[in-house]
Amino acid sequence: SYSMLNRRKVKFVFNQRVTIKNGEINNRPFDFILDCRGLGAKKEQLLRGVRGEVARLYAPEVNLTRPVRLMHPRYPIYIAPKPNNEYVIGATEIESQDSGPATVRSTLELLSAAYTVHSGFAEGRLLGVQTGLRPAF
Ligand SMILES: Cc1cc2nc3c(=O)[nH]c(=O)nc-3n(C[C@H](O)[C@H](O)[C@H](O)COP(=O)(O)OP(=O)(O)OC[C@H]3O[C@@H](n4cnc5c(N)ncnc54)[C@H](O)[C@@H]3O)c2cc1C
Repeated sequence: SYSMLNRRKVKFVFNQRVTIKNGEINNRPFDFILDCRGLGAKKEQLLRGVRGEVARLYAPEVNLTRPVRLMHPRYPIYIAPKPNNEYVIGATEIESQDSGPATVRSTLELLSAAYTVHSGFAEGRLLGVQTGLRPAF
């Protein structure tokens, strides 16, 4: 944990933009570097973005207790039950660098897939749709 690492004199530097190049972070050499910048490392690594969209629903009429994975021609969609009658429906996998808001098509496909699995989603409330880019080689 953080306090244990502090006791061992590990130095933390927060809120710092880093560039990693030739074994150096911001021009300082290190023996080992773990690069956890996700797509932030795109300039220096051969990374591309795989766009994902997830919908969060409040659906008290649905009674799924375990995650459900669908065999879908376009998306490997899953429904993940969360506390308080909430469900996360995800996720699209689209080859795209676009991190903008969710599209009509993706939202329709996520929501109709959920409705196909359980008709109780019909009266569910859409709490939000999130998008992101997964880093991939
Ligand atoms: C729609 C969607 C659904 C997903 N669903 C799941 C799921 O169900 N289960 C699952 O396990 N995973 C899922 N993922 C993947 C999951 O989000 C990622 O695997 C996870 O966020 C990766 O965490 P990370 O800390 O490696 O990278 P990130 O969360 O991408 O964090 C990288 C951090 O580096 C920082 N950074 C970037 N560049 C710099 C820089 N130059 N200097 C300093 N800091 C920098 C960023 O600000 C960020 O804070 C999903 C992804 C998407 C998009």
